[in-house]
Amino acid sequence: MKLTADNYYSQEANLEYMSVSQFKDFDRCEAQAMAKLSGEYAEPKGDCFLIGSYVGAVIEGNGALERFISENPQAFSSRGPTKGELKSDYKHADKMVESLQSDPVCRQMLEGDKEVIITGELYGTLWKAKLDVHNPDEGRIVDLKTAEKLRKAYWMDGERVSFVENFRYTLQMAVYTELERIAYGRFDILEPLIVAVSKEDVPDKAVICFDEETMQTELMKVEAKLPRILLVKEGFEEPRRCEKCRYCRQTKQVTGLIHYLDLLEA
Ligand SMILES: [Zn+2]
Repeated sequence: MKLTADNYYSQEANLEYMSVSQFKDFDRCEAQAMAKLSGEYAEPKGDCFLIGSYVGAVIEGNGALERFISENPQAFSSRGPTKGELKSDYKHADKMVESLQSDPVCRQMLEGDKEVIITGELYGTLWKAKLDVHNPDEGRIVDLKTAEKLRKAYWMDGERVSFVENFRYTLQMAVYTELERIAYGRFDILEPLIVAVSKEDVPDKAVICFDEETMQTELMKVEAKLPRILLVKEGFEEPRRCEKCRYCRQTKQVTGLIHYLDLLEA
């Protein structure tokens, strides 16, 4: 199928193509990923997601904000003198946009074609990706991210990591960069960058770059994990439950006892 802005997130597209978010779903919990693919389960859209999408829509331009408004009417006031305005919870998102747009470097990094859909074969399967900003003339692809704080530390496998690793943006940038190279038949990759803006009362912002070694390591992880994921997706292997995620909790049936010391086991 040919991917468009309208069918990009459809179930049909997700069945035909692998994507970074689908890969991360499978890597986290196969049962949840399969339930999402069959339409049996959907994750609720949180405020965080809406703020991120709103900031992205304003930066994108070209009617993206109008689309956001029609798809997310709950974010806008429907009554009183503020009718049609962004609800106060989201008003802060305007400050985040302003913070980016008033900065010459961020503004420049966000220049280029927006929301560019690319597809390509990587490690034996078709992938889809949507680049926030594609600027081959300047040699870069850019993803726009909103974060609670840019310098907040998270714990991951016993290590202190930034929001970039915690949300696996290194994996995303590695796959996007490689897919872009394949889709456009390039010999060299474009430079992957993240333009990040924080949700603090005075928003922080940064242009974040990556090293090639990390990008290679992430691709190797994808290559190693993909065969099992594809077997599950195609129905040749039973999906495993993680017993921790929202979907597993929702469908859980207690089948035995757990020793209290095992509760914090990974
Ligand atoms: Zn699970």
